[in-house]
Amino acid sequence: MQEGSRVVVPFGNRAMTGVVTSLSARRPDPERIKNVKEVVEALDPIPALPPNLLELGRWVASYYVAPPGEVFRAMLPPQIDLRHEREFLLTEAGRARKSELDAAGNRSESEIAELALLSLIEIEGKPVRADRLRKLPGGEAAAERLLRRKQLEGREVSVRRNARVQKIVAWNSTDAELGSAGVSAPENPFESLSEKELRIFHVLAEERGPLPLPALAKLANASRTLIERMIRRQKLKSWEEPLAVEQDLFDVGYTPPCNVLNDDQSRALTEIQSWMDTRAFHTGLLYGVTGSGKTEVYLGAVEAALARNQTALILVPEIALTLWIGRLCRARLGPQVAVLHSALGDVERAREWWRVRRGEARVVVGTRSAVFAPLENPGVIIVDEEQEASYKQEETPRYHGRDVAVVRAKLESCVALLGSATPSLESFHNARAGKYRLLQLESRVEGRPLAPVEIVDLREEFKATHKAGTISSKLSAAIAERLANGTQSLILINRRGYSWFVLCRSCGAGVQCENCSISLAYHKQRDRLECHYCGFSRRVPNTCPKCSSEYIYFFGAGSEQLEEKLRETFPGARVARLDRDTVRTKRAYQQVLGDVASGKIDILVGTQMLAKGHDFQRVTLVGVISADSQLSLPDFRAAERTFHLLTQVAGRAGRGELPGQVFVETYYPEHYAIQLAARQDYLSFFEKEVQFRRLLHYPPFTALAAILVRDRKIENAIRWSRQISAFLAPQESLGVKVLGPAAAPLARLKKEYRFQLLLKAPRRAQLTRALADLLSFCEKKEIPQKAVLVDVDPLSLF
Ligand code: ADP
Ligand code: ZN
Ligand code: ZN
Repeated sequence: MQEGSRVVVPFGNRAMTGVVTSLSARRPDPERIKNVKEVVEALDPIPALPPNLLELGRWVASYYVAPPGEVFRAMLPPQIDLRHEREFLLTEAGRARKSELDAAGNRSESEIAELALLSLIEIEGKPVRADRLRKLPGGEAAAERLLRRKQLEGREVSVRRNARVQKIVAWNSTDAELGSAGVSAPENPFESLSEKELRIFHVLAEERGPLPLPALAKLANASRTLIERMIRRQKLKSWEEPLAVEQDLFDVGYTPPCNVLNDDQSRALTEIQSWMDTRAFHTGLLYGVTGSGKTEVYLGAVEAALARNQTALILVPEIALTLWIGRLCRARLGPQVAVLHSALGDVERAREWWRVRRGEARVVVGTRSAVFAPLENPGVIIVDEEQEASYKQEETPRYHGRDVAVVRAKLESCVALLGSATPSLESFHNARAGKYRLLQLESRVEGRPLAPVEIVDLREEFKATHKAGTISSKLSAAIAERLANGTQSLILINRRGYSWFVLCRSCGAGVQCENCSISLAYHKQRDRLECHYCGFSRRVPNTCPKCSSEYIYFFGAGSEQLEEKLRETFPGARVARLDRDTVRTKRAYQQVLGDVASGKIDILVGTQMLAKGHDFQRVTLVGVISADSQLSLPDFRAAERTFHLLTQVAGRAGRGELPGQVFVETYYPEHYAIQLAARQDYLSFFEKEVQFRRLLHYPPFTALAAILVRDRKIENAIRWSRQISAFLAPQESLGVKVLGPAAAPLARLKKEYRFQLLLKAPRRAQLTRALADLLSFCEKKEIPQKAVLVDVDPLSLF
């Protein structure tokens, strides 16, 4: 056992997996620590977490005031080689029961079952696992009775599974049972199935065919226990199969472009290499417009790390990009590249993780959590599109992947390389302040121009046409032009559904979600009103739920409506839509993108999903509908987010040989975020925004934390937030500003009432200390842990 090893420890009457954080040679003082328990089992021949990751984990726990256990859990690979099982042994009372049953004359059926079970354990002479007892007739029920009467004792143990085989599960039925053709099924064969069982049936028999058990559990959203029970009842059959052999992730026949670096690119790379040679911590900010060839610089830095016998990590903001950049890396660097992201199955992810841990893979491409990839001796840690909000984890531990990447580079004395066309305010500020080194790619490769952006003033449009249409006449004409010359258009709208607001004209009430304080959105195809926050849905009412009037109106076009309008306006055009309703799976997503790339689509409508990364060569028009919808949000990052989105989506036009054009529709044409995005003027935007942040004491000029207090009972939420506010009040004299408590912008979510406090501290250490003290205070006052969410460096204030 070493530091960083996973161990199984007793916890109550369960067994749990933990991580050894430190070893001590001395016995603990029995006076001070009673009940020291033995470690049940050490799991790792080599510690899962190497020392550098242990240290990083400790930093994350303290900076984000997160429980260390949660942090280490986020760092560890999925446990596929281990499961917890129950085993049983006889108690004194159990032995007595056995003698009693042995002696009895005629035994009932249940007594026979008990006797069989007790005999089996006695003959074995050691604890027997639950699965063996269950195989006895009536075994499960008998075991439960004996346990209740304390004649058996149960305990949890960890069982190692042979990692080389997996359990495959299939639907077990004859055709007659399915009521198939020819058999007049007298009764519904599914009547006896519960809702969950029915879901399992659909997944196995109709959608996918036989599946590994964990995959089935995930797809059908069913527990392992339920599936195991269905196997025992022979509703399902199962068998073991060897794990799939190393999947061939190479794209056969894919040859990556072989680019000779231009001057800007080589200058940046040379500088990065010189930092690597010092073996000291450096952070570089690679700032280059979309299409300036940043990827090529990343690959050069990775090769430089490998050449120095070091390893490399590339973080990207979304799964689709891991596939794209992963493919590029594999084509260049071969099987030493591992890909890590959350959409991999547990088995695949664990395999990739251990390949990295054992040193077989030396380059990792992955999303946020890959910042914890167990690489040793990294030479460079790259964060592509470092401004992306998806690097922030919105559940505990609420870390920011980019910031953790920089801290990791510091701990490892290596280079952190952050890349972006529109760096976050924080990063560019750090570059200005000299904390980061600025590397710049001045222009698009081969001198391709950025597409000109035209702002369409929707107020003017309305005056001219008296219609509050979604597609302005200018944009409409531009689309028609593309249809005529056979190039493609992308139209971005950032709401999904048909209408995102349902209102009663009579009483003015919006039709709200039952669980959240938000208007329901209308989805025409499904003909339902849906909540985009909690998933609640309901029939479309004929009358207002509040006042019973019949004047229900739908406002605000979403992507579904836009698609419909485009089909009406341009009959014959091939229109596709990309949003969470049309692409629910990775396959569907790739299908749509593939269709666009191969020219099967003329107009692609979509939400933010459209904006990122894709390198479509034949897109010459980008239209942005309602560019301003974010600007009205009560969030100090609203302008920055709008600027990023517009610049990015504009960057999708004219990436190939054909020049592009961009239209941005808005009711606030004079807003600086829109004006400067249209001019693609990052520097002016930065100057303006940074001034505003300085004046109002927002990051990067103060350390900010948000505290959310939530409960189903509004009284609790109010009481606790008052207690917290009173506890924090003395901090004011130390210079920490406490704002609130006030109702959160989303005042109710998933049936919980939400109150918010904001903490602003001039110095980071003050903030960290105040938050740590606050958490111990909450514990002392017995405010439930899940009622208080602390978000350090929050990205959004909801
Ligand atoms: P960015 O990430 O900066 O938006 P990319 O790295 O995606 O840009 O590069 C844009 C395009 O330019 C890609 O198709 C890439 O193959 C090409 N490219 C990159 N560097 C060069 C170069 N030195 N010469 C020619 N083409 C290049
Ligand atoms: Zn009404
Ligand atoms: Zn809701």
